[in-house]
Amino acid sequence: MFDTLSDRLSGILDKITGRGALSESDVEEALREVRRALLEADVALEVVKTFTDKVREKAVGAEIVKSVKPGQMVVKIVHDAMVETLGGGEASALNLRASPPVAILMVGLQGSGKTTTTAKIAKRLTEREKRRVLMASLDTRRPAAQEQLAILGRQVHVDTLPIVPGQQPVEIAKRAMSEARKGGYDVVMLDTAGRLSIDEELLAEAAAVRDIVKPNETLLVADALTGQDAVVLARNFDEKIGVSGIVLTRIDGDGRGGAALSMRQVTGKPIKLMGTGEKLDGLEDFHPERIAGRILG
Ligand code: GDP
Repeated sequence: MFDTLSDRLSGILDKITGRGALSESDVEEALREVRRALLEADVALEVVKTFTDKVREKAVGAEIVKSVKPGQMVVKIVHDAMVETLGGGEASALNLRASPPVAILMVGLQGSGKTTTTAKIAKRLTEREKRRVLMASLDTRRPAAQEQLAILGRQVHVDTLPIVPGQQPVEIAKRAMSEARKGGYDVVMLDTAGRLSIDEELLAEAAAVRDIVKPNETLLVADALTGQDAVVLARNFDEKIGVSGIVLTRIDGDGRGGAALSMRQVTGKPIKLMGTGEKLDGLEDFHPERIAGRILG
């Protein structure tokens, strides 16, 4: 049986009585448990360190008040620091403020849920925000990729750019933007090719597309179950392409979602949305509170 972090912290700290403030050694003992909880949630090591430093700063010397047990007080400090690191109380909406057509570039590893998420976002923008959306797949390597997006497009009643065999990603992107202009579309969603691991060619290709379409949003799609790799993944995509936001998929899975904290902390970029299932309506705004509770256990 695992105790929750809250139980463990109460066990350590509630024996403190008759003192005015949390001492350094009380806090260090508590931080050991926080570190353990974060590692169990697959938060990347370097991120664990930065996060615990932040908690230490807030907790050492904090006044113990009579009405709250010390354990609960530290739980609150840790929880608040987690919510703050994950982006605070507000969901961060997609930025579509530009003259249409506005481009959204979708990037990420193969299998992360990029194509599905493209269709989910297109559906949401069409239904909720009444935007006219055109989707295009720039994945010319995986034979069925463009067709996969076309099938999803029919399911969510969103137009996809007609497939022209043999066209390269940059040409497809240009064609998508020009069709969108002609057709009066508000938003163009571009689904780029993914690989099983990060590679320079993939990043260079996405960067070339970015230079052509000048996207309002470049969304990194990443599986919530990504473990220690999350840091390398987020850092690489952000450095090479420039990410404006993150979409975490498979929040419906078993993982505790430590990748959310890792990616947010290394890039400083907001987590904007989360994928909550295979179905095309399985997309929700990111809720820092909900994920904070889950990471801390
Ligand atoms: P891509 O290679 O990144 O384009 O990935 P796909 O969009 O093809 O998705 C790969 C698999 O993950 C598919 O079976 C999707 O249905 C599934 N998937 C995508 N997003 C989610 C999600 O949020 N939750 C779950 N459970 N499955 C998802």
